[in-house]
Amino acid sequence: MKLVTLKPVVDIEKCKGCKTCVKVCPVLAMSMEEKLAVANLELCRGCGDCEQRCPEYAITMVVREEPVMAKVEMEGLDYQEIINLCRKARFHPEQVVCYCTATRADEVAAAIMRGAKTPDEISYMTGIRTGCKVECIQPILRILEAAGIEPKPSPGGWQWYGRTITAWEIPEEVKKKYANRGFYFDEDIDLLNRVINAPLQGKE
Ligand code: SF4
Ligand code: SF4
Repeated sequence: MKLVTLKPVVDIEKCKGCKTCVKVCPVLAMSMEEKLAVANLELCRGCGDCEQRCPEYAITMVVREEPVMAKVEMEGLDYQEIINLCRKARFHPEQVVCYCTATRADEVAAAIMRGAKTPDEISYMTGIRTGCKVECIQPILRILEAAGIEPKPSPGGWQWYGRTITAWEIPEEVKKKYANRGFYFDEDIDLLNRVINAPLQGKE
């Protein structure tokens, strides 16, 4: 969930049409029209990446007249299905998976249940991955995978890459190799499993 309070304004006198802003936008809100950058403010989630990365300093973030709430409505969804999907991806449903926006795993799962099929769509619906963008792509990819969706790069989307290995997937030979070097893989997995499966108060 994110309250979007900012929007980008492009100075067309400065824009050189390099498309950097198009490539860095996590929700595919920037496009080119007649070789100049244009922001789709309905899609924009106010992250400021386009402003920060524009080599011509042609973009300025300004305060929106009306803030926009990016939030997935949970009502009407089967919360047990959300729980199952989160746990299949090995997240506790209430686990915060984007620290910048405080988006939880259950909201990402809800976005997928409401039809999101790519990280870009999940970012648009929830606001996740519109802060630092460092940690949250992995939970997004894992929850998509748990839902049986193999995300493909969206047309025009560049801002994500493959899923990294998780604690549960470390090969036995690797565990053995590092066992006497202060790594406790199985103990870590046991602890993680207990966190993931901790009961949700009032929901199960
Ligand atoms: S990054 Fe800047 S110069 Fe390049 S297209 Fe976008 S606004 Fe124009
Ligand atoms: S979401 Fe971020 S990168 Fe995309 S248009 Fe809005 S401020 Fe720029």
